[in-house]
Amino acid sequence: MDHDKVRDVDPAVADALEGEVDRQRETLQMIASENHASEAVIDAQGSALTNKYAEGYPGERYYGGCEYADEVEELAIERATELFGADHVNVQPHAGTQANQAVYFAMLEPGDKILSLDLNHGGHLSHGHPANFTGQLYEVEQYEVDAETGYIDYDALADHAAEFDPDIIVSGYSAYPREIDFERIQAAADDVGAYHLADIAHITGLVAAGVHPSPVGIADFVTGSTHKTIRAGRGGIVMCDEEYADDIDAAVFPGGQGGPLMHNVAGKAVGFKEALQPEFTEYAEQTVANAKALGESLSENGFSLVSEGTDNHLVLVDLRESHPDTSGGDAEEALEEAGIVLNGNTVPGETRSPFNPSGIRAGTPALTTRGFDEDDCRKVGDLIARVIDAPEDEAVIEDVRAEVAALCDANPLYE
Ligand SMILES: *Cc1c(COP(=O)(O)O)cnc(C)c1O
Repeated sequence: MDHDKVRDVDPAVADALEGEVDRQRETLQMIASENHASEAVIDAQGSALTNKYAEGYPGERYYGGCEYADEVEELAIERATELFGADHVNVQPHAGTQANQAVYFAMLEPGDKILSLDLNHGGHLSHGHPANFTGQLYEVEQYEVDAETGYIDYDALADHAAEFDPDIIVSGYSAYPREIDFERIQAAADDVGAYHLADIAHITGLVAAGVHPSPVGIADFVTGSTHKTIRAGRGGIVMCDEEYADDIDAAVFPGGQGGPLMHNVAGKAVGFKEALQPEFTEYAEQTVANAKALGESLSENGFSLVSEGTDNHLVLVDLRESHPDTSGGDAEEALEEAGIVLNGNTVPGETRSPFNPSGIRAGTPALTTRGFDEDDCRKVGDLIARVIDAPEDEAVIEDVRAEVAALCDANPLYE
């Protein structure tokens, strides 16, 4: 993957782009929200559609010359419809946050009430955090995971809803390792006459492949990202029943965005086509099997996992018991030196700060894309343990870095 045309114009940027490709090749990408899109998806995203204004929707654009833009967007919609089975799909949101924004903007008035999961417990900024527009425009209360088990406490959620009387309940999380029971959350929403937004940003690919239960047909609105467990390039989508289709479309454009990023819509079309192939189901199953293997290896190495394991693509490690003197930030830094890239993360009952939290989050979507299996992921668990057991030992870091390089060589990326 060279960048010769960039290099001709701008060697500094070309160096950075090629440096990034090498970084992805030579180190382990374990940030749970990241993946490696195919070169086909990246090619579509780097296409001449970046030049095209296509405000509006296929067949009803505000500009001429939209023949190919229409074709690409129709293909993206068709394929998403086949993947998820939704009545209506909008593929234009620039990212997951914009997909959520469209749902709030379509269905809520400023001052309306959102009930969502606390950020420290695995929620997302766009679910009502004070620093996000959602925290400033709407009245927000938050539910939590059970302090003992790490699982969503659905009874407490329903009680909280009865007390708070929200206009919308948000499910779907950024750092939750367990299966989500969308039906129970829908029931809690129905009891209080609230909408239910299921934000499957992290698990879009797992839902598409059928390895996580789908909220489509259960929740009123489903939003997703297209770059995490599905490899369709950076972006967002919204799905809903036909009755809300016009409201959602108007909230995406012109409500919250101008012209769609048609090159990214093309990436979505290609990535969705890839996800419709039988190999994608195998990929999603392997991603989950790999996360379980990684979790088992970390547990055997003495780490405590929030909820004691995983059903999906990520594990959340609480370092407080096993390594009380090592923060998530310290662990993240030492691991990066060793070639293992993941992030420090808040954990339920967080006692440090969000900038230097008590846990780490590790995902397997990107490793699985480059061919890692359970044995490889168990080995990665051992390597993570070696680094966190001795975060300042240069000899250990060097040794682990060599083992990481060997794993990368055995599972090449962007050949
Ligand atoms: C990643 C994520 C999003 C989308 O984030 P963007 O960076 O805006 O694409 C939305 N919701 C949840 C729960 C997420 O984890």
